[in-house]
Amino acid sequence: MNKYWSPIVHELDPYVPGEQPQDQQYIKLNTNESPYPPSPAVSAALQAYDCDQLRRYPDPESARLVEALAAYHGLQPEQVFVGNGSDEVLAHAFQALLQKPAAILFPDISYSFYPVYCGLYRIDFETVPLDGEFRIEVDDYRPGNGGIVIPNPNAPTGIALPLSAIRRLLDNNPDSTVIIDEAYIDFGAESAARLIADYENLLVVQTFSKSRSLAGLRLGTAFGQAGLIEALQRVKNSFNSYPVDNLASACAIASIGDEDYFRECRQRVIASRERLAGALSALGFEVLPSSSNFLLASHRDRSAESLYLELRSRGILVRYFKKPRIDNWLRITVGSEPECDHLLKALAKILD
Ligand code: PMP
Repeated sequence: MNKYWSPIVHELDPYVPGEQPQDQQYIKLNTNESPYPPSPAVSAALQAYDCDQLRRYPDPESARLVEALAAYHGLQPEQVFVGNGSDEVLAHAFQALLQKPAAILFPDISYSFYPVYCGLYRIDFETVPLDGEFRIEVDDYRPGNGGIVIPNPNAPTGIALPLSAIRRLLDNNPDSTVIIDEAYIDFGAESAARLIADYENLLVVQTFSKSRSLAGLRLGTAFGQAGLIEALQRVKNSFNSYPVDNLASACAIASIGDEDYFRECRQRVIASRERLAGALSALGFEVLPSSSNFLLASHRDRSAESLYLELRSRGILVRYFKKPRIDNWLRITVGSEPECDHLLKALAKILD
């Protein structure tokens, strides 16, 4: 106990991010980062950046970036919100839209930051079990809830829902805010952003961290009808006026402008994912069907924890969650082709 702390701080159970080791060179397949660099247009934007501009505060509304995103997604600027990574955008969304008398709902196996936001903002939640094949059953999300949060594709399973299921979820729950966390959407699922005109209760959250190779930039977005976006703005403007810095805006705008590079990287990750999934199956792993840039895999003979530790000792980091239902599974980020080869060789040796 520390008498100087606010009481709630004693009760917080903070999120534990995947390791970012600073000591030695690891093959990092543990935090779903991209194996490819950001677009060359981002590097050009950085080089062209007038350093003198850093004297100034950024535009609090990030208007140029918001306009670029709105044009890219076929939305109006008032339907777009930007923040310091989608973790921050999600935090604002929990506070702005989900602090309701009824418990909110999210899957039992899902992004482990959601219960952390609930602790921070004192939001009641109930988890809804995935089915026996780790799939989300949208009809299990019954009305009367305080809101719904679903990652699509889900993390850490990687399994995606079709847009028809998201529509059904929205139709079943017209009185709840439904947040679709699309951190991994670009690797094979269909974005719900196109449903925004039809549903005033839909908020779609995306990030530049994965498919745009910009995890270090910290840029997250939300799309929704103007009423929901206004709620996020009100929270943001009560918290930090300038979450998106000058450099982040310039780099993000450059990234949006390079569609060819974006598609090429995405395709490379998808192709490597399919190859890696096949090779892992051949080594005796069960691999869930992933639409994201990672695979959830479980070996028929060896415990996930022992494999995680042995890979780590060989300089390869993957993610292991000591949690009910998934404590015999490894979440493996799809790396570059040489990284995947290195992983497969190490696993073959360990399993030999
Ligand atoms: N949602 C999900 C499902 C994630 O896995 C992550 C990455 N840990 C995020 C959101 C947050 O990503 P970022 O803050 O880098 O945008």
